[in-house]
Amino acid sequence: MTTRHPFGTTPDGRAVSRLVLGGEPGLELHLLDLGATIHRLRVTGADGVRRGVARGHPAAADYVASDAYLGATVGRYANRIRAGRFELDGAAVQVPPNDRGNALHGGPEGFDARVWNVVEATDDTAVLTLTSPDGDQGFPGQVEVTARFVVGTDALDLELTASTDAATVVNLTQHVYLNLDGEGSGTVDDHELQVLASRYVPVDATGIPLDGYAPVDGTPFDLRTPRRVGDVVRQGHEQLVPAQGLDHDLVPDGSGVREVARLRGPVSGTVLTLSTDQPGLQVYTGNFLDGTLPSPSGGRYRQGDGIALEPQLHPDSPNRPALADPVLRPGETYRWRAVWRFGS
Ligand code: BGC
Repeated sequence: MTTRHPFGTTPDGRAVSRLVLGGEPGLELHLLDLGATIHRLRVTGADGVRRGVARGHPAAADYVASDAYLGATVGRYANRIRAGRFELDGAAVQVPPNDRGNALHGGPEGFDARVWNVVEATDDTAVLTLTSPDGDQGFPGQVEVTARFVVGTDALDLELTASTDAATVVNLTQHVYLNLDGEGSGTVDDHELQVLASRYVPVDATGIPLDGYAPVDGTPFDLRTPRRVGDVVRQGHEQLVPAQGLDHDLVPDGSGVREVARLRGPVSGTVLTLSTDQPGLQVYTGNFLDGTLPSPSGGRYRQGDGIALEPQLHPDSPNRPALADPVLRPGETYRWRAVWRFGS
C-alpha cells in the first residue's frame, strides 16, 4: 500500500495528505491531494546520485499562497481565456480574469486549490478525483475529473479524464517545474531543451494568441535540435522580451501519444523524455519566479529555477475554433495523457 502522511492544513483548515509512490532504485513520487500536486519526484541520475527533480514548496500554506502552480494539476481551463469571456452554444460566459485582464489556469480558485479525493492508492498507483460543481469559477456544468498517476521504474504516467452534465470547456494540464540537477542547483540555464515542434503560437504581451500558428524557422522557438535554455531566453526576439523568456505554446508535430520534448540536466546527466497526446505544449521557463516563493530547503525560487513543459490545448481555444475545440458535452469523455521518462 502507498504510504499516506499528513501534510498539515491549509490556512482555512482543510487537512492535506502526501502520498508516496514507487521508491528506490526507481522513481519516487510524493503526491499531495491538495491540487493533485507533484510535490517531489526523486530520480537516480546518470551519475548514480538521487535527486528531487520537481520544484515544490515546504508546506500546504505555501502552495495556497503561491501563484506559481508548482506541480499542480491545473483546471478547469489551463492557460488563458481572453478577458475571461467566450461564447458557448450562443450564450455568453464570463469567468473571472485573474492574470493581466485574462482568465488563467481555471480562475482564482482553480483545481490546484482544491483538496482532491484519493480513491485508490497502491505502491505504484494513485487515483484522485474532483467534482467541480456547476458554476465553479463561472464555468457551466458539473465536471467530474479523475487523475491517475502510475509510477514505474523510470517513468511517470499520468492520465486525466473528465466528464460533464452540461456543455462546458475543459483544458487540463500538469504544471510540474523540472530541474534535472535537483534542489539547490540554481537555474535551468545550462539544461539542454529540445521540442519537436515546427510551429508555435505567437502571443500579445498578456499571453493571448495574436492570430494562428507561425513557423519556428529562424526564431528562438526552433528547438528541433537541442539548445541551451540560457541562450534561448536571452535573445532579444520581440516574442521573448515581454514574456521575459519562453512562455509560449509550441505545436509538437504529429498526433496521438508521441514524444514532444527532451530535457537534459548538465550535472546529473539525467535526460527527461516527455510524451503526450495533447496538441500543444506550453513551454514556460519560470520567468515570473521572483525570489519570494519558498523552496523545501529553506531558500527561495528565482527566475529560471525550473522549467514547466505543460501539455494542453492551445491558449484561448474557447475563442479560437481554428486552434482547437475545447468543448466537452454530456456523454463525452475528455482524455489527457503524458508520460515523463527519465534516463541518461
Ligand atoms: C503561464 C505563465 C504563468 C505560470 C504560473 C504558466 O503556465 O503560461 O504565464 O506565469 O503558468 O502561473
